[in-house]
Amino acid sequence: MACKRCGGTGSIPIDHMTVQECLCSYAMYLKQTMDKEILAAPAIRVTPFYDPPEVDFTKKSHMIKVWWDDLLPHLRRILIKKGRKFRLKIVTDEHLKRVWLGTESYKAKQASQSEDTPYENLADLIGERYDLVIIRLGFLGYKNVAMPGILLEALKIREVACKPTWLIEEPNSPWGECHRSYSIEVAEHIQRRYPSLTYKGQERTAPPRGVDAKPKSPVEDVALEDMELPESIVAPGTVLSDTKFKPKLKPKSHDNMVESQDSVVDRLANDKVLCSAKKKGRRS
Ligand SMILES: [Zn+2]
Repeated sequence: MACKRCGGTGSIPIDHMTVQECLCSYAMYLKQTMDKEILAAPAIRVTPFYDPPEVDFTKKSHMIKVWWDDLLPHLRRILIKKGRKFRLKIVTDEHLKRVWLGTESYKAKQASQSEDTPYENLADLIGERYDLVIIRLGFLGYKNVAMPGILLEALKIREVACKPTWLIEEPNSPWGECHRSYSIEVAEHIQRRYPSLTYKGQERTAPPRGVDAKPKSPVEDVALEDMELPESIVAPGTVLSDTKFKPKLKPKSHDNMVESQDSVVDRLANDKVLCSAKKKGRRS
């Protein structure tokens, strides 16, 4: 049945010079472009992550502790309100690793034979064309010696482009020395530049993911000959972050959002919050 607003044309004349896009056209656009799991999330009318003009977390980098399923309705709301120009990219740490290793593999093949296969590198995957990149942590099946450096490289690509990144830490994949993407270097970088916040949604339980029972040194090295070119697939996933949060201020009317350490000074002053690894061991 044709839309009653626009008669099925998708636009509504404002005057003889201008037309406005009809809601039906925009709804169709969202349906075609939104990730399926975001589209299927429950509709909500307010979100503490985006309430312009005062609140817009999409413009700043954060480490967010939240269950992915609890975040989806908020992403849905944000995408609806942001409009057509807003570009969101969601990846997992495992996907970053796969692309990085694929790029290295491609370079190795290029060196040995003249192959002209297109490949995707990290800058293609999460570069400046995206207004917001969400990296879900905790998807590695095993510790990889290159992973913390890959994660750090991805973050720096975004920082150089002056574009925000959310790191998502799910409660069953706590960020710390047992995490398979963890190193002291990347943890310190995140501590300095990615203010932590926790979104308290539903009570949930899930088996641990992307973490080892106890810290162990990397066992898998980068073996280029075993690699294949990356697939252009985004693996579904979830994320995680650091272990302690110091509640500092509550955004208005957002009872389940706790923001902490939003200045570098505060974070440096609370250095103990960072990685238990510093205390526990490797350096002592
Ligand atoms: Zn219409």
